[in-house]
Amino acid sequence: MKINEQRLKERFDRINGLAVTDEGGKMRLALNDADKEGRDLLVSWFKEAGMEVTVDDMGSIYGRLPGSDPDALPIALGSHMDTQPNGGPYDGLFGVMAGLEAIVSIKESGADIKSDLILVDWTNEEGARFVPPMLASGVISGQFTREWVYDLKDVDGIRYEDELERTGYKGDEKNRLGDVKAYLEPHIEQGPVLDAEGHQIGIVTGALGITGLDVTIRGEANHAGTTPMAMRKDALAAASDAILKIQANCVEFGEPAVLTNGIINAQPASKNIIPGEVYFSVDLRYHTDEGMAELEKQTIAIIEETCKAYGATVDIKQYWRAKPAHFHETIVGCVEEAASEAGLDAIRIISGAGHDAVFINEVQPVGMIFVPSIKGMSHCPQEDTKWEDIVAGTELTADTILKLDKAEVSR
Ligand SMILES: [Zn+2]
Repeated sequence: MKINEQRLKERFDRINGLAVTDEGGKMRLALNDADKEGRDLLVSWFKEAGMEVTVDDMGSIYGRLPGSDPDALPIALGSHMDTQPNGGPYDGLFGVMAGLEAIVSIKESGADIKSDLILVDWTNEEGARFVPPMLASGVISGQFTREWVYDLKDVDGIRYEDELERTGYKGDEKNRLGDVKAYLEPHIEQGPVLDAEGHQIGIVTGALGITGLDVTIRGEANHAGTTPMAMRKDALAAASDAILKIQANCVEFGEPAVLTNGIINAQPASKNIIPGEVYFSVDLRYHTDEGMAELEKQTIAIIEETCKAYGATVDIKQYWRAKPAHFHETIVGCVEEAASEAGLDAIRIISGAGHDAVFINEVQPVGMIFVPSIKGMSHCPQEDTKWEDIVAGTELTADTILKLDKAEVSR
């Protein structure tokens, strides 16, 4: 399916030109003025394409093009238009623009499509303004309650619900995404694999599960000059040793296991006192339930053992857990077939990042398409994707819709 490259390019430029930082980054924080302008543009493009526009109670916007069979379940596509504070041009926006262009191109081609085609812009995917991420898709899939999200405040104390009202995007609960035949989310990879290996498309089979641990090690704070090395209970030395060991263990565990220690904090934080207490975080990800459990068990055992050797005690609490996501085999198959027929160099891949699709996967049949991120850069002004890959991903989105329309997708 040929798409209109010129139109696609112009629309990217319009949205990306709305709020640009000094470093060239994009700054459409969820429901800020630039995000609202982008949303208004999207709505105008929906109307131009003859799509029905609705907004749900979380502020997500839906454009709907009717299909030929009123009994067929709709096919939905989507992603998000909000960005990080100094974000790139394609995170989220690619899925919304590719989805819209694919739908409009299909309409213009005159192809007979049975299903209604729906495009969604999910509110606050990034979690940069209102924490945590994926709030709107999270409410729809039952992860969070609406009231809890409505009361979340940004750093200036402004409430989510008040911003929905201010921007004119507080819609109705009845407009939420209902049952669909498939939900397909095109996205940039935000990692280096496709680019490094020279592939054009990632056929996403699922997403890594996440376990988050808060680790607090307690040793003994004491004088830096009078306490011989052999007589210390240095909590930071224990933490450092434990971190290196659990990271090495993760490497040995094998791909796609990843482990990150994003925060470390030593107390009493004085240059001439041996650290008595150290906190560090562990973010652990893997693609199978059994593997997650095993890696978590090994990680905890290594931390405990290491602390013992330093005469320190340790307290480990789980602050977050998300199961690995497995996308719908038929949808994954439709993406794969369409990519192969188009002669694209595509591989199966697992998403290391969270996406709205991962939450929607809890309640609807889901698939995703990845295009490469140059050098794997994302959430920064350097984020980029070759234009030919943006076009290929958009055309593949259209081809996949045509396949899904004919496919039987079990529920
Ligand atoms: Zn995103």
